[in-house]
Amino acid sequence: MKKYGVNELRKIFLEYFESKDHLAMKSFSLVPHNDKSLLLINSGMAPLKPYFTGQEIPPNKRMVTCQKCIRTGDIDNVGKTARHGTFFEMLGNFSFGDYFKKESLAWTWEFLTEVIGLEPDRLYPSVYLDDDEAWDIWNKEIGITPERIFRFGKEDNFWEHGVGPCGPCSEVYYDRGEKYGCGNPDCTVGCDCDRYMEIWNNVFTQFDNDGNNNYTELEKKNIDTGMGLERLACVVQEVESMFDIDTIKELREHVCKMANAEYGKDYDTDVSIRVITDHIRSVSFMISDGIMPSNEGRGYVLRRLLRRACRHGRLLGISGEFLVELSKTVIKGSKDGYPELEEKQDFIFKVVAKEEEQFNKTIDQGLSILADMEAAMARENVKILSGDHAFKLYDTYGFPFDLTKEILEEKGLGVDDEGFQAAMEVQRTTARAAREQTNYMGADETVYESIDPAITSEFVGYDHLTYDSKITVLTTENEVVDALSDGQAGTIFAEQTPFYATSGGQEADTGYIRTADGEFAVKDTIKLLGGKIGHVGQMVRGMLKIGDTVTLEVEAEKRALSARNHSATHLLQKALRLVLGTHVEQAGSSVNDVRLRFDFTHFSAMTAEEIKQVEEIVNKNIIAALPVTAENMPLDVARKTGAAALFGEKYGDIVRVVSMGDFSKELCGGTHVSNTGVITVFKIISETGVAAGVRRIEALTSKGLMEYYNHLEETLAEAARAVKSSPEQLTDRITVMLSENKALHSEVESLRSKLAQEAVGDVMEQVILVGDVKLLAIKVDGVDMNGLRELGDQLKEKLGDGVIVIASAADGKVNLMTTATEGAVKQGAHAGNLIKAIAGEVGGGGGGRPNMAQAGGKNPAGIDKALAKSKEILAGQISG
Ligand SMILES: [Zn+2]
Ligand SMILES: [Zn+2]
Repeated sequence: MKKYGVNELRKIFLEYFESKDHLAMKSFSLVPHNDKSLLLINSGMAPLKPYFTGQEIPPNKRMVTCQKCIRTGDIDNVGKTARHGTFFEMLGNFSFGDYFKKESLAWTWEFLTEVIGLEPDRLYPSVYLDDDEAWDIWNKEIGITPERIFRFGKEDNFWEHGVGPCGPCSEVYYDRGEKYGCGNPDCTVGCDCDRYMEIWNNVFTQFDNDGNNNYTELEKKNIDTGMGLERLACVVQEVESMFDIDTIKELREHVCKMANAEYGKDYDTDVSIRVITDHIRSVSFMISDGIMPSNEGRGYVLRRLLRRACRHGRLLGISGEFLVELSKTVIKGSKDGYPELEEKQDFIFKVVAKEEEQFNKTIDQGLSILADMEAAMARENVKILSGDHAFKLYDTYGFPFDLTKEILEEKGLGVDDEGFQAAMEVQRTTARAAREQTNYMGADETVYESIDPAITSEFVGYDHLTYDSKITVLTTENEVVDALSDGQAGTIFAEQTPFYATSGGQEADTGYIRTADGEFAVKDTIKLLGGKIGHVGQMVRGMLKIGDTVTLEVEAEKRALSARNHSATHLLQKALRLVLGTHVEQAGSSVNDVRLRFDFTHFSAMTAEEIKQVEEIVNKNIIAALPVTAENMPLDVARKTGAAALFGEKYGDIVRVVSMGDFSKELCGGTHVSNTGVITVFKIISETGVAAGVRRIEALTSKGLMEYYNHLEETLAEAARAVKSSPEQLTDRITVMLSENKALHSEVESLRSKLAQEAVGDVMEQVILVGDVKLLAIKVDGVDMNGLRELGDQLKEKLGDGVIVIASAADGKVNLMTTATEGAVKQGAHAGNLIKAIAGEVGGGGGGRPNMAQAGGKNPAGIDKALAKSKEILAGQISG
C-alpha cells in the first residue's frame, strides 16, 4: 500500500468521484449560510442541507466535497487523548434522488481497496439490523463473506432526527491490528478500543418518520456519506493517531521545537502539544473564513481556542508570542486544498498576533487576582469559587471562564457554574434585546417553504428597469394563493424581474407591478432559497392572478442613487487597501439611496490624514470617469485576477466580477453606475469602531451629499442669524464674542467680591477668642457659594490663624462655609465637623475636610442660632 499524504488523499478522493460523474465542489465556508441552527459547519452534509430538504435544487444530482469542519462539543477533551480534535476534514459523496445503495457501496469498496489499496481482509462492513438490502449488496454483489458483515442496532446504524427524512447507515471498519487491541478475547468490530476503526459511513436517506415512528418509503432517496480525511490518512500511513499523519505531524513537531519538548515522553506535555496542534488549525481556518475573536457565538469559540492554545504554550514554557509562526506551518500544510489560507495569510497573522498579545496582558493580571481568590478560599476552607467571583474575573478582567475552571480543577477545586451562567445571562439579555430590534422582517417566512422548489426567477435588472413577465406564484402573508386583490398584502413571484433583492449589502429595489386590471406597490424585494425573487408589498388597486403578464417597474431614481453609493463602496475598499494596507478586508456593507456604510478589518482608528487620503483617492477615480464593466467567470479564474471577495460569502461556481477601469475588481452581484463619473463626488462623514478590529465608515455621494451640505448650510445660517452676523463673518463674530465674554466674566468676579466686602464692612470687630483660637462667625446677604469662598480667603488674610464661619441667605436658601487655618486645626479645630454640627440649625446638612467645608440649608431664620452654636462647637473641639 502506498503511503499517500493528506493532500494526495483529498485529491484522489475528489477525482475518483468526478470520474463517476460527480460535481466536485470546493469546501464551503465554516460559517453556515442561511442556517441559524448551526454555529459552525460540522459535517460534509451540513452546507448541503437545502438540497436534501428540497428547498433548493442542487447544481448536479451527484456531488463530492472535502469539507472543512469544526466540532466544539468536547473542547475539554481535546488534548487529553489523541482521538479528539476540533478541526477535521470530511470527505463525502452525495446523491440527491439519483443513485442509491448499490452504487454507493460498490464505489466505497472500490475506492478503499483498489484506488487506495487497503487490504480487503482488514475491512469489515456493518449494516442496520433490518437492512437486508445493504447486507445483500455487501454479500452477493461485492462478495464479502457473511461472518465479516456485522448488523448493528439503531444506536449505531440508523440516522434520524425526530420527524422527517431518516434511514439506515452502513459503515466500514478497518482492523488496525492486534497492537491497537484491548486484549479481550471478545474484541471485535464494535469494541470500544482502538483496533477496529470506523472509517466511512454511508447514510441512506430512505424513509420519512411521521413523528410516531411510522416509516414510509421516500419517493426521492438520497445518499450522504462521510469519511474523515485524517482517519483515512491514519490508516493509509499506518500511524497511531491524527497527530502522527504527515501534515499534522509536521505542525506537532514545530510545537515541540518551540517548546524544546519531545512528543510521547510525558502525558501532561503531550496534552499541551496536542491542544496547541489542534487549536491552531481551527484558529487559522476560522479566521480565513472571516470569523473574528469576540465574546459571542463563533467569535467566542475562536477566542476560546486561541486563548487555550496560548495558555498551553505557557504550560510548555514557550516564552513570548508563538502562534503566528505555527499558523504559517498550518498554511503551508493545507494551502493545496484551501487556497483561501494563503490569500488571507497576512490577515490571519495580524488577528492571531493581536489576540495573543492582548491575552498575555490579561492573563498575567487575571492569574494574580485568581491567586488572591484561591488564598481567600483556603482561609475560609471553601472548595468552590462563587459564580460572582468567576464572573468578575471574566467580565472585569477579561479572564476566560474555562481557564478559571481549568486552573481550579488542576488544584482539586471547583467553580459555581450555574452562578456564573446566571450572571452571564443577565448581561446577555441586554445585548440580545438590542440585537433583535435590528432583525430584518419579523414576518412569518414559513409561507415561502410551501412554494414548489422548481420555481425560480431570472434577474434581468442589470439591463432593464422595466420588464414584462408572467406571475408564477402569489402569496398572502401566510398562504400561497391564486390571486391578490385590492388592499391585500403579499408577495409576488414572476418568471423574470428587474427588481434587485437585498443582497451583498445593497438594499432592495422598490416600485410597481401592474396590469390594466391591477396594481401592486413593491415595498421590498427578497431573495429566497433556490434563486426565487419575491416582491413584497401591497395591492393598491384591482386584482392580479397567477399567469397574468405584468409590467414590473423599478423606481428609477432610487435605483440610480443606490448604484452610485454601491459603486463608491468598491472605490472605497480599494482606496482603504492602498492607504491602510492589504489586511483591510470587507466585513460587511450596507448601501441604499441615501448613504453607504462599509465595515472593514483594521486595528486602530483612522487618522484625519488617512481619511483625507482615502477621500482624495476615491474622488480622483470618480473624476477619471472609469468605465464600469461586469463579467461572469468561473470562481477559480476570478481568484487569479485578484478580485476582492467577501469573507465567508457563498459563491456559486460562476461568479460576477465588477471592474472599474484597472483600479478596482470585486466579486459582486450588485447594480452599478455605467462609469465612475456618475458618482459625482464622495465624502466620508464618520469613521468609528464597531467591534474589536472592525471599523465602520459612513459616507455620502451625489444627492445624499448635497442634502447633507444643504442641511449644514441651513444650520450655519441659523447660527449666524442668532448672533446677528453672516456665515462668512461668523468665526470673527464668535471670536469677538468670546473675548467680550471673558472680559465681562472677570468684571463680574471683581464686582462680586467688592460687594461682599462692602456687605461685611469692618467685620474684624466681630472676632472673638475661643480658648486661644480666633473665631470669626458672620452673616452676609445674597452671596453664593463661590462668593463665600472668595470672601473667606480675603478674611483669612486679615484674620491670620483661626476659624471663619460665614453664612449667607440668598433666594430663600442658606449657604454655609467654614475654614480653619493650619494652626487652628493643630489645636483641634475641624471645619467639616463644625459645619456638620451647625447645619441642622438652618435646615440642612453638609461636611468636609478639617480645613475647609461647606453646607446648604433651607431655613434662613436659623442663621443666627447656627453662628452662635459655632462658638460652642469650636470650644468643644479645642478642649477635646
Ligand atoms: Zn477491543
Ligand atoms: Zn459590490
